[in-house]
Amino acid sequence: MSKKGTRKQLAENAIKRAKANVGIDTYDTKTKVPPGGIESNRKELRHNNTYGPLPYFYMDKLVICHDCGAEEVWTARKQQWWYEEAKGNINSEAIYCKECRAQKRQHKENVRDQHLAGLARKNEQAI
Ligand SMILES: [Zn+2]
Repeated sequence: MSKKGTRKQLAENAIKRAKANVGIDTYDTKTKVPPGGIESNRKELRHNNTYGPLPYFYMDKLVICHDCGAEEVWTARKQQWWYEEAKGNINSEAIYCKECRAQKRQHKENVRDQHLAGLARKNEQAI
């Protein structure tokens, strides 16, 4: 099997596993953290400033891209990073695949570069 084929197979297996996680209640503190789950650190979630429930653990989650419809796995580790390290809001979720996120980032950078170039031109004229 080619290297590319193996990688594709791994991605498909990860998606299969993520699909199997649907229905697991990651807010249920009475269950044991299942294999592959990562227990949350409630202290790192305080920035949410909520009396509402916070997740007890993270599980790999299936994301269907809102732009292109591609299926991608949002891993437990990446969720932990997003909510606890990047301090993402607990109600925010990944909604785009990697490729679409990269495209959006690139688009934003292009817009900013154009804006900065415009400002530079303006400043030159002012002098
Ligand atoms: Zn996409």
